Amino acid sequence: MNNKLYGKLIFELSHPGRKGYSMPENKFGNYTLPAEMKRSKDAMLPECDELTVVRHYTNLSGNNFGVNNGFYPLGSCTMKYNPSINEEMAAADAFTALHPQQPENTCQGALEVYYNLQKSLAAITGLEEFTLNPFAGAHGELTGLMIIRAWHESRGDHKRVKVIIPDSAHGTNPASAAVCGLEIVEVKSTAEGIVDVNDLRGLLDDTVAAMMMTNPNTLGLFEKEIPEIAKLVHECGGLMYYDGANLNPMLGVCRPGDMGFDVMHINLHKTFSTPHGGGGPGCGPVGVRKGMEHLLPCPKVVKEGDTYKVQTQGEGDIHVGAYLGNFGVAVKAYSYILSLGKENIKMAGPLATLNANYIKERLKDVYDLPIASICKHEFVFNGLKDKSTGVTTMDVAKRLLDYGFHAPTIYFPLLFHEAMMIEPTETESKETIDEFINIMRIIAQEAKDNPELVKTAPHNTPIGRVDDVLAAKQPVLRYKG
Ligand SMILES: *Cc1c(COP(=O)(O)O)cnc(C)c1O
Repeated sequence: MNNKLYGKLIFELSHPGRKGYSMPENKFGNYTLPAEMKRSKDAMLPECDELTVVRHYTNLSGNNFGVNNGFYPLGSCTMKYNPSINEEMAAADAFTALHPQQPENTCQGALEVYYNLQKSLAAITGLEEFTLNPFAGAHGELTGLMIIRAWHESRGDHKRVKVIIPDSAHGTNPASAAVCGLEIVEVKSTAEGIVDVNDLRGLLDDTVAAMMMTNPNTLGLFEKEIPEIAKLVHECGGLMYYDGANLNPMLGVCRPGDMGFDVMHINLHKTFSTPHGGGGPGCGPVGVRKGMEHLLPCPKVVKEGDTYKVQTQGEGDIHVGAYLGNFGVAVKAYSYILSLGKENIKMAGPLATLNANYIKERLKDVYDLPIASICKHEFVFNGLKDKSTGVTTMDVAKRLLDYGFHAPTIYFPLLFHEAMMIEPTETESKETIDEFINIMRIIAQEAKDNPELVKTAPHNTPIGRVDDVLAAKQPVLRYKG
């Protein structure tokens, strides 16, 4: 659209005296604010009629890209489409009108939802008990590591200061360990992309507090040596921590508790139907195996007879936050679990896995596939197969925008220079996936025939190629009229 009004700022559409709303008549007589509470000059606010405002914001929303517009194959994120029924449940007045300090007998239904979610997560993961207090995955990691530290200390074992973390791990793993005051020891990956058990053997001793693992890992690969790894870590007295960000393909298929993990977090905003990526709200429940429940932070919801109660004080002294965390996210997760049911929830993982492998197999002749084995819900290409064109992963990602697809996650994980991490999820139709494959192949061909076209993309978006460094370091966020 290139008429003169489109793309203007709301301030540029403003005219002095235009109104979209009239204040009701003052029925309360005159009141004069004290002088020190008044502005010295009028606030600079746009003055527009209602229709101009409606058009302005409707047009702005069209500049955005979201899952409601098109395919969004970001890796290491899991769910992109979150069924509307779960949003409706969380938005119900019965939940949104609650007050955190409301007497327990007036909100038994809400407490029941919370209690049942604690129990459902335990059943799904094979661990004993969960806290829903932490606000994000990283917050869960920190909570979990504090629980592990408290566990060792409660046994008088004060020399355990190390956390073993695979070189493929998400950056929050070493960050959480560091914030918890623990030392980070990196374990290598094999050429196959999974933890190198021989390298691990050499790192184990009685100073190891825990090993953190993601399974399937950040390359989308199942860590098939997991029973051996858990055995080795436990033999040296360490605990196994499961980063549950990739739980989606495991749902109902296998359980971290059965794989030998002692403590874990789940990202409800990745696996259990809460939109994410816009900065929250999220929820990172932490679960522990039998025998460690007393170390979980409070508050939690307990059941006494037929009554639900909030227990505010536990035996442990780890404290995450007041009240019960992001309750609305818990409602969405519970609604998702109930709406799928025990049988259907087992389909999420296999369908996500099928979709990812289908894309991988249909593109691997034109994109460089460094690890060829069967993947789980996501996989990684290392840029285009034909490196002679000079077209990078960044260029392909930008060109995808021209075709109405969001880019995948790029330059993560750090193991490959031109990483392009694709995760379609279980909710995409075959038609959408086929069209994505078609466009990815067209771009690979363009890279050969007309590399400049790809290197200078995007061409059809409201804003073309930006200088990423400048945009991050010196963003212009204010209107300078
Ligand atoms: C997203 C992610 C995290 C961090 O979770 P947040 O909820 O974003 O804090 C940790 N580990 C892995 C593997 C992830 O993908």
